Amino acid sequence: MEAREYDLAIIGGGIVGCSLFSEAVLKGVKAVLLEADNDVSVLATKANSGIIHSGYDPMPDSKMARFNVRGNQIYPALCKRLNVDFMACGSLTVAPKEGREKLQMLLERGKKNGVPNLRIVEKAELFAMEPNLADGIEVGLFAPSAGVVSPFNVCIALAEEGVINGGTLLTNFAVDKIEKIKSESGESKIQSEDKKIQSGDNKIQAEINKSGGNKNQDKYIIQSGDKQVVAKYVVNCAGANANEVNALVGIKPYPMNFVKGEYILSDKTLVNFINHPIFPLPSEITKGIIVNVTTFGNILFGPTAIECDKDDTSVDINGINYIKEKVALSVKNANFKKTIKLFAGVRVKSGKDFVVERDTKNNHFYYALGICSPGLTAAPAIAEYFIEMLEQDGIQTKKITAKNRPAYINTQAMDKNSLNELIKKNPAYGRIICRCEEISEGEIIDALNSPLHPYTIDAIKRRVRPTMGRCQGSFCIPKLIKIFAEQRKIKQEQVTIDGKTSELLVSNIKEGGFYEK
Ligand SMILES: Cc1cc2nc3c(=O)[nH]c(=O)nc-3n(C[C@H](O)[C@H](O)[C@H](O)COP(=O)(O)OP(=O)(O)OC[C@H]3O[C@@H](n4cnc5c(N)ncnc54)[C@H](O)[C@@H]3O)c2cc1C
Repeated sequence: MEAREYDLAIIGGGIVGCSLFSEAVLKGVKAVLLEADNDVSVLATKANSGIIHSGYDPMPDSKMARFNVRGNQIYPALCKRLNVDFMACGSLTVAPKEGREKLQMLLERGKKNGVPNLRIVEKAELFAMEPNLADGIEVGLFAPSAGVVSPFNVCIALAEEGVINGGTLLTNFAVDKIEKIKSESGESKIQSEDKKIQSGDNKIQAEINKSGGNKNQDKYIIQSGDKQVVAKYVVNCAGANANEVNALVGIKPYPMNFVKGEYILSDKTLVNFINHPIFPLPSEITKGIIVNVTTFGNILFGPTAIECDKDDTSVDINGINYIKEKVALSVKNANFKKTIKLFAGVRVKSGKDFVVERDTKNNHFYYALGICSPGLTAAPAIAEYFIEMLEQDGIQTKKITAKNRPAYINTQAMDKNSLNELIKKNPAYGRIICRCEEISEGEIIDALNSPLHPYTIDAIKRRVRPTMGRCQGSFCIPKLIKIFAEQRKIKQEQVTIDGKTSELLVSNIKEGGFYEK
């Protein structure tokens, strides 16, 4: 195992950490992204509404407002650069006639925040834009700069872009210890650690770069069990665990609470049901139950807002009933028989604003905390802000010739002739594995060989969608397990849904294994 030295270590591979990782690498910074799980985009970033909010909702002069509006500006070009979909559909906030005043207030707030082209839409135009609105709806606020993305596609693409351009991603690296070292005079802690390691006192083999760097510059040894890296600058983007990571360098905990959002996801047959994300009037604490379109063509209803424990992603019947009840106030004819999945994500809140800080006691230590909604939208702007701080604090950036992150082959989006040509060259693209989403074996193998190397069925799902259709994997999982095991040269019993203890098979019954065990 190696203890390499980096300019920048980023802790946490959600959308905030991945945005910063790619931004830093593209600026020539030697960066490492440390993620506790076996893949990026595993917590809040994988389970949210995917809306790139316009920015009329956050309070003016807050970090939330600033990063939301700037993030919204960045997204269209970012998605183009990353080769991922950005649905430039705008958003509608709708209300009965008593809601007009509040919509007007949101419009004024949006203008203060710098949101472009917001306007009030009257009933006739509103129903022309959205024929399935509920009968009581009279007026709306149209925010044309809002959009929709697949949050996990963007997050994975950012991490891939970082890796393709020379950044390092270390997964299964749950940071559990951070040691600050001052390289004052003479031998630094790192150097003595290095000697200790080389003399065999420690299993870890050091590759610490002792040249370069200011002698008075603090450095950090960041550990996960017996693995470690060294970095001059550290940014904590650990989401729900940000307080725990801060505590490793003695930073007092910020107030933090967790708010679960449950969802109902429909299949794609409702695709023309709505054309924009449709919001009700927001409350002090939530944007309310949204009727939303996904980039893949599903309709998404939710989320609820329920105080919970930080890892509680359970779905409750009360939550589902609440969603159905509230949806009926915004749209008519929502067909919940088309439901294919219920799921939940957990928002991490710290008071009313985002906390994005440079620590005052630990030189070159920074953190993002309480990044609740609109954190997906804000993430590229938060990354930009961190880069500004890092540059002010002396991190060296330089121009690099960046490589583009190529899109995965998507046979669904190809015309017949091109697809036939592709299948002639590689018949695996003609063998459909996931019938619902029509994903071929070739696409699954491409995902397995993609820059971040997915190690679980869920990780493949987040890249190319097998198991995301109507049957939710009932038909394709056995085939996926087989392909996965063959490609990774492991036993089928070792293939997992999401790592940990989620093996799908116990043993081969025909060999008597199950009964023997
Ligand atoms: C229900 C819901 C709906 C939302 N809707 C929207 C929306 O429509 N639009 C929008 O803009 N925003 C939305 N958001 C907000 C958005 O999803 C979050 O703000 C964003 O995903 C937060 O990203 P993050 O990187 O801070 O955290 P996370 O995605 O949670 O990532 C943190 C990462 O840190 C890792 N980690 C934790 N501890 C350690 C450690 N010790 N060492 C290493 N790694 C560690 C975790 O494994 C995780 O991968 C929504 C959120 C929810 C829950």
